[in-house]
Amino acid sequence: MLRTLLLELSKSSSLRRWITNNGATRRMAHRFVPGEQLPPAIEAARACNRAGMTVSLDHLGENVVTREDAERARGSYSEALEQIAARGVDGNVSLKLTHIGLDLGEDFCSEQLRILTRRAGELGNFVRVDMEGSAYTDRTLRMVKQARAETSAVGTVIQAYLYRSEDDIRDLLGIHCRIRLVKGAYKEPSRIAFRRKKDVDANFVKLMKILLPSGTYHALATHDPKMIEAAIRFAAEQNITKDKFEFQMLYGIRTDLQSQLTRQGYRVRVYIPYGQDWFPYFMRRLAERPANLVFFAKNFLRGAAPQA
Ligand SMILES: Cc1cc2nc3c(=O)[nH]c(=O)nc-3n(C[C@H](O)[C@H](O)[C@H](O)COP(=O)(O)OP(=O)(O)OC[C@H]3O[C@@H](n4cnc5c(N)ncnc54)[C@H](O)[C@@H]3O)c2cc1C
Repeated sequence: MLRTLLLELSKSSSLRRWITNNGATRRMAHRFVPGEQLPPAIEAARACNRAGMTVSLDHLGENVVTREDAERARGSYSEALEQIAARGVDGNVSLKLTHIGLDLGEDFCSEQLRILTRRAGELGNFVRVDMEGSAYTDRTLRMVKQARAETSAVGTVIQAYLYRSEDDIRDLLGIHCRIRLVKGAYKEPSRIAFRRKKDVDANFVKLMKILLPSGTYHALATHDPKMIEAAIRFAAEQNITKDKFEFQMLYGIRTDLQSQLTRQGYRVRVYIPYGQDWFPYFMRRLAERPANLVFFAKNFLRGAAPQA
């Protein structure tokens, strides 16, 4: 119930204004978002590289309503790709199609995406298209497949909570598309999605077992030790070596597990979000883990209390 409430609140513009203008909450958001501009994200990326991990940079934003905003967002991703190359960062970019104009038309957004994937291909880099709420699933898959027909520098995300995901995976494997498997972060109805954690987990493991032996390089994005153990065990049983897939985790979450897997020789990629539009991302992270909400509330009260 708390998760549902927080996901609903993530759409509230008045709460967004209040939280993003508040100094205490801005400071707390730094736990999950290293900065509002590209340079601190590049610094965070370099620190991850030094610790033996790769990164994916995500300029936060979604559901833009003007072409100017969509083009500006696309420009920010071009800039991130250029900076990654110029600064020798071992990393790629992740983006949401609604940030580069999906709500403004599929043709427009498709062209925006292909400008980025072409450039990523030239630079020997890669664009990961995040998966948003189910209203966007078909369009996202269609546009990724169009872009994938031109370059292998693009991949996408499949959410284990959706019933349709096994079919989508089989379809994407037909074109050797790289997939990031996640549990799924949005509020979806039981008509189309598993609601119970144990069902989502079971489907994650089932889909992982389709992905890992497929011969294409995929990612398992989870902080759940049970999912990670299942993948490690399955890979060992199937003689799938550690360089054939990667684990991905979010910046600031389970950093202990990130380091442990790196020490054990697994590939770990840290997803680094940055930008001013961090509110919905922040709320989704709170929704995932009630303990984060307690941390948030305690710090907020401490920050709001008069200083001695
Ligand atoms: C790299 C990456 C990219 C992602 N991209 C997408 C995407 O494109 N589309 C999408 O729908 N979702 C995406 N997600 C989010 C994902 O769908 C889940 O909502 C999120 O990862 C939480 O699920 P979990 O697998 O970590 O396991 P859960 O079952 O949520 O949690 C298992 C355990 O992980 C730890 N944990 C999980 N979340 C947190 C947290 N916020 N703070 C502290 N500990 C935590 C706790 O120990 C918890 O008990 C992405 C996640 C990652 C890691």
